[in-house]
Formats: sequence, C-alpha cells, structure tokens
Amino acid sequence: MIDLRSDTVTLPTEAMRKAIFTAELGDDVYGHDPTVNRLQDLAAAMLGKEAAMLVPSGTMGNQVAILTHTRPGTEVILEADSHIYYYEAAAASVFAGIQPRPLPGKRGSLPAALVEWAIREDDIHLPPTSLICLENTHNRAGGTVVPLEDMQAVYQVALKHGLPVHLDGARIFNASVASGVPVKEYAACTTSVQFCLSKGLGAPVGSILVGTHQFIAEARRWRKRLGGGMRQAGIIAAAGLVALETMVERLAEDHANARLLAEGLAAITGIEFNPDDVDTNIIIVKPTTMSIRQLGGELEKRGILTVVIEPDRIRFTTNKEVNRADIETTIKVVKEILDG
Ligand SMILES: *Cc1c(COP(=O)(O)O)cnc(C)c1O
Repeated sequence: MIDLRSDTVTLPTEAMRKAIFTAELGDDVYGHDPTVNRLQDLAAAMLGKEAAMLVPSGTMGNQVAILTHTRPGTEVILEADSHIYYYEAAAASVFAGIQPRPLPGKRGSLPAALVEWAIREDDIHLPPTSLICLENTHNRAGGTVVPLEDMQAVYQVALKHGLPVHLDGARIFNASVASGVPVKEYAACTTSVQFCLSKGLGAPVGSILVGTHQFIAEARRWRKRLGGGMRQAGIIAAAGLVALETMVERLAEDHANARLLAEGLAAITGIEFNPDDVDTNIIIVKPTTMSIRQLGGELEKRGILTVVIEPDRIRFTTNKEVNRADIETTIKVVKEILDG
C-alpha cells in the first residue's frame, strides 16, 4: 500500500523504539517524569516560549489552549476552514462554551483588517471577543504556509485590542522548513502554540502546547480536568525527543515528494489543480471526469490510499513512509485511471 491519507500514518523509527525502550520514567502528573521534562524544556526552547506541556493529541492541545484563554459566552475568531472549527467535533463549543466566529481566509491566512473588523465592541448585546486562532501550515487550504508578515499583522491587531493569539501549529515545522523562517519567529507572534509530534515528525503519539509559565500552569489544570494527565508519559516523550532532535530537517523530503507529485498530477487532463498552490506536503485536487468516490475507489484497488476532504476534492499527503518511487507509481496510476 502507498498510504497518502495523512502524515499521521507515519510509524515510529528504530531510534524512537529504542528511546522508548530505555526511557527514564516517573509520574508526570507530579511533574516527575524526567523524559517528559526534557521534551518540554526542549520544545519551549525551540519555540522560544517560557514553558511547554505534553498532551496526548493536537486536538487536546488546541482545546486546552482555548479553555485556558477564554471563558464561556465569549467569541473566538478563527478561519472558516481551520482544524479547530472544522475537525474538532465542536469541542470548543461543548467544553469551553465559546461561540466561534469563522472568517474566510486567503490560502488559510486571515487578513488582519478582517480580524480587526470582527473584534466586538463593548455592548451588552454582543459576546466579548476573547481569542484569535491562526493555523500554519493550513491543512484544508492544502498545507499552505501562512506568511510571517500576515501573522505579524494579526498579532499587532491582537496586541492593540489586548487579545491572545493561539496558533494551531500542528505542522509549524513544515511551514518553517518550507519557508526558511525559524519556528521561533512564527511563535513570536503568538501567545500560545500547539504543534504535533505525531505527524510528519513521525512520533507515535503526542502534541506540545507552549506559552508563558503562568499559561502552562493553568493549562496543566485543564489537561487534568479533561483526563489528559498521563503518568509514565516518558514512554511517549522519548519518541517525541527523537522527533524534535532528528526528524525536522527530513520534512524537506516530504515537500520534495509533494512537489514531484504536484507536477505529475498537474499534467493529467482529468484533474483541476494548480501545482503552484502546493507549499508543503499536502495536495488537494479535483477530478473533472470522474466522481471522487470512484477515483478514491479505483486508487484503493490499486493500492493507493487517499482521503476525500470535500464532496469533489481528494487529498494526497506525502509522509516518511512514502518514497520517490511510490510517488512515481502514484502519478502513473492516477494517469491510467483518469486519462486512460
Ligand atoms: C492533525 C491536526 C490537528 C489535531 O491533531 P490530532 O493529534 O489528530 O488531534 C490540529 N490541527 C491541525 C491543523 C491538524 O492538521
């Protein structure tokens, strides 16, 4: 199988399995797991923030951030196709009791002027704005890199209005490797960041939330409330350390494979898609001569797994389990199916 469904399908490396086997452990709910502490210290340093906390998933990282930054009855500004709005089962409404305020982005980037326009006046009819959420890279926009200047502009608006900015940086390392902008610079225009260890970086489980000492102290209480306090979590953190220490630069391979796939797919007649839209490891295409279900089914029969993300759009995500030869096979197979 050539699994292009997601970069979450990546399996732990040999080095990760060894690190898990030999990890020094303790009870992390007491703050006594040395491996978790090392991972959190490294993550905070890499992002240029005071403190970090390991969480079981990106979704929990985002939700803990929202719970920590907001209170019920307030409004959270976010992009209309963002993961937090689209893919987290309305968790922010259910748990934090916030009202989402989805705004249309451009390639996943929220225009600062639009954000400022959406911030509520002080009026008893209106829910107070409590938080702005950004996403980089933007998943549903097609793994697009949100330019640093766009994030800086939104951050300026946030500062002016005294609002926190949370970045869903599930793939912030993809953004950094693709753009050459250090992750610290992206993180510098945020109050908190969540990023995933378990996507392109290849760790089996886990995400990290970073922010100030005070923010993370409060976030630890929310994580505990949600049942996310894990005991000998060094088992997870050990692989996360290997991911941060050795797997960041390799994301460039996923991007190169995505570029190859993008150019191959763009040459196929039965596909509507602009290869210039591909910044990182995600490719979203629209077949024009066949339904999505048919195309997905035909691909699966030939051993290629993809994901339907709109009724008329299919997603390919390159990842470390897929090599250049697999990409060449994928192009050939899609061409056979669509162009005959
Ligand atoms: C995958 C993803 C998440 C959530 O990660 P899980 O670990 O699957 O909960 C959050 N945001 C974005 C943009 C993602 O792609």
